[in-house]
Amino acid sequence: LVVAEDVRKSFGRLEVLKGIDLQVRRGEVMCVIGPSGSGKSTFLRCVNHLEKLTGGRLWVNGELMGYRERRGRLYELREKEIAAQRSDIGMVFQRFNLFPHLTALGNVMEAPVQVKRQSKAVAAAKAMELLERVGLPDKAGAYPEQLSGGQQQRVAIARALAMEPSLMLFDEPTSALDPELVGEVLDVMRDLAAGGMTMMVVTHEMGFAREVGDSLVFMDDGVVVESGAPDEVLSNPRHERTRAFLSKVL
Ligand code: ATP
Ligand code: MG
Repeated sequence: LVVAEDVRKSFGRLEVLKGIDLQVRRGEVMCVIGPSGSGKSTFLRCVNHLEKLTGGRLWVNGELMGYRERRGRLYELREKEIAAQRSDIGMVFQRFNLFPHLTALGNVMEAPVQVKRQSKAVAAAKAMELLERVGLPDKAGAYPEQLSGGQQQRVAIARALAMEPSLMLFDEPTSALDPELVGEVLDVMRDLAAGGMTMMVVTHEMGFAREVGDSLVFMDDGVVVESGAPDEVLSNPRHERTRAFLSKVL
């Protein structure tokens, strides 16, 4: 479902991604780990074209992100076309970025109503279902500031799911949470994975990676140092850099 081919990204002279090749199959959960500054967030942002690549190509669901290819040449897509591509990809960030002036229900309804032009009644019914799915049916009328971090993150997941994406991206969705709230968010992600969602998850939760991940990628300094089955990478890292990183976090 996701194919990255020699993906490169620089900010001015700073080369952050130095040629990333990877594939995520439909229904697969890929976890991404690596030290701070290694380019994990930048890579996720490249997947939904929030960052423009400086080299390489990236496909999601068979679509070349951000470009149209004709006779071997690449033509940049218009903002509207990029938005359409992006609406197939849900993203959940580390910081809860709900709309503060909307209730939980309002947050989940927002994109289907604004982008997909769904009627409010249809969107509200769907949003209620999603809030039930993330265990928050009783918080539909609550505003973000009235919710715990874990609850806000679960609303953020419901909001991303409202667009019925074929891919979900998670960038350290639990690392800003108090420890006792981490589990409830991971549980929702675990259910989502069990339901067959294709997911890319940047995380420090090695237990989650081992248990839920189909593959694990270790990134360092803008390259994929090592990837494979989570158990293998975590128990039997082949590279010194992976070993050094794991000895710090495990
Ligand atoms: P962390 O674990 O701390 O979240 P990360 O692996 O997600 O780290 P990135 O956020 O992808 O790392 O950042 C990789 C590098 O790119 C860093 O050196 C960062 O300073 C740089 N960088 C990221 N975004 C920008 C930007 N918009 N402009 C300039 N430099 C950037
Ligand atoms: Mg990051």
